[in-house]
Amino acid sequence: MKAIKSKFEEMTNKLNKVRSGIEIVAVTKQVGTVTTQEAVDAGIRHIGENRPEGLKHKRSEVKGDVAWHYIGALQSRKVKEVIDSIDYLHSLDRMSLAKEIQKRASKRVKCFVQVNVSGEDSKSGFAPEQVRPFVESLKDFDKIEIVGLMTMAPNTDDENVLRATFKGLKTLQRQIAEKQWQHAPCTELSMGMSNDYLIAADEGATFVRVGTALVGSESEAQR
Ligand SMILES: *Cc1c(COP(=O)(O)O)cnc(C)c1O
Repeated sequence: MKAIKSKFEEMTNKLNKVRSGIEIVAVTKQVGTVTTQEAVDAGIRHIGENRPEGLKHKRSEVKGDVAWHYIGALQSRKVKEVIDSIDYLHSLDRMSLAKEIQKRASKRVKCFVQVNVSGEDSKSGFAPEQVRPFVESLKDFDKIEIVGLMTMAPNTDDENVLRATFKGLKTLQRQIAEKQWQHAPCTELSMGMSNDYLIAADEGATFVRVGTALVGSESEAQR
């Protein structure tokens, strides 16, 4: 298997050809602390986890200068144990979660509002038309900064569908950024995973969330 360092460099080179400054979030939910440490030692600066246990485990074991991203569905009752340990939340998907963050966070958290651009029933997130009113309603939530929007594209190889999804998110992001709300600069776009990160980058992603293509996946026993 190719070392993470060379995969990271390859991916960085490809992204740099699209645009400079795109951040790679290495999603380590399917690997253990040893592999996560290898990723950090390879120069990766953003680590993404989708479970409170995984986050806690990696945060306590992995050494280095890392920004921690929470990318999965976050249950309100788990906010207390997670919120002060992360730098970015990619999955702000409901008002009740915003209220819980406001109540529990001791510092301001950078949040992406999750949007269900494709409208699939299986996906969480706001419908596109709900996003702007939701963001506007957060103006008195001083523990929340809306840095951008996040989406998960449908699981398809159809490039037209993927591009339409990413374009949809970008359009919404621009509309909100234009408002210049103080609590919501909304300059960032979290979109693209292993199979579609280059397409997402091409459509304006500023953070791509890449797991298997970068750090691989390990069985439970190996983690
Ligand atoms: C797992 C996951 C990813 C990474 O998926 P890969 O296909 O392994 O790159 C990205 N975003 C979210 C929200 C995830 O849950």
